Amino acid sequence: MKTHAIIPIFIPHLGCPYDCIFCNQKAITAKQKPLPAESVRTTVDTWLSTLDSVPNREIAFYGGSFTAIPMEMQREYLKIAKEYKDGKKVEKLHLSTRPDAIDERILENLKNYGVDVIELGVQSFDDEVLRLSGRGHDAQVIYKSAELIKAYGFQLGIQLMIGLPKDSLDTCIFSAEETVKIAPDIARLYPTVVIKDTELYNQALEGRYVPLSEKEAILRTKEMYKILTGAGINIIRVGLKSSDLIAPGGLMGGGDFHPAFRQLVEGEIAKEIIEERLRNLLKAEKSEMQIGDVSFFANPASFSNMVGNGGRNKKYFAEIYPKLNIRYKVCNDLKPGCFDVKITK
Ligand code: SF4
Repeated sequence: MKTHAIIPIFIPHLGCPYDCIFCNQKAITAKQKPLPAESVRTTVDTWLSTLDSVPNREIAFYGGSFTAIPMEMQREYLKIAKEYKDGKKVEKLHLSTRPDAIDERILENLKNYGVDVIELGVQSFDDEVLRLSGRGHDAQVIYKSAELIKAYGFQLGIQLMIGLPKDSLDTCIFSAEETVKIAPDIARLYPTVVIKDTELYNQALEGRYVPLSEKEAILRTKEMYKILTGAGINIIRVGLKSSDLIAPGGLMGGGDFHPAFRQLVEGEIAKEIIEERLRNLLKAEKSEMQIGDVSFFANPASFSNMVGNGGRNKKYFAEIYPKLNIRYKVCNDLKPGCFDVKITK
């Protein structure tokens, strides 16, 4: 049964003065009017009518940068959201914003309206990546804002992007390690998708930017995922949802987008764990021939990761270890995310 639901409210960042090269908000919002505050109520009511049985519900303001819009507009939206929280119709209020749109005055205001979770669109901790992405601030701002958010008692989220210009496996690992030092409650990992009407799209057309391949996107995200989960950080999203691209008006122009990107990453991690165990077994037995039959085990919740998206791990093991007869089995004694390999003959 579903125990948690997020009610998303998209707040366009009208008149955003920044120039993030991956963002098409300017192109979209140029044709938009501000979201009327009352439509927050309509959206929340529509969602709530389908969420009766869900115990934990949150209203989440997504889109541009909530705390960078005029304070009066923030208050209008928050006032309505707070009514739902005060009336116990939702449990939490949640928003995302830019690291440089955080200060004491802004946080005081969010506290007054009962906001619980603030996610920072950090993207990278590497100054060069931030500069080339047109973010308009350096990494120091991220540390300060994160510290302030935690000092005020909010839950903190960190969003990171993979594959921006000059980003590499090393800068990705660095960003994940810096995130661990900050110790947020939640994190999101987004491989860069090139969206039409963006500077990144122009750069890709002119050959000045090469979009991430799926293989590279999986590799970098996998390493970050391992660092973050190893530190106990809850990764609530890996990869964009298709609706992130369709609404509002985001047409994809390239880069890596796979609707089940999280499974690609988790499947790759499963493959890595299983292969290490298998190699140790083979080393002990000295040859595939002597083993013959082997079984891979996973908790039921991790079975699909063991097999891999579209059976890609099965295909991999069949190709690399052709002399092994491999069976894929469920084991309830294993914890989710844990795998085992045993000789079965
Ligand atoms: S991502 Fe950058 S350009 Fe886009 S709305 Fe946010 S701050 Fe503005």
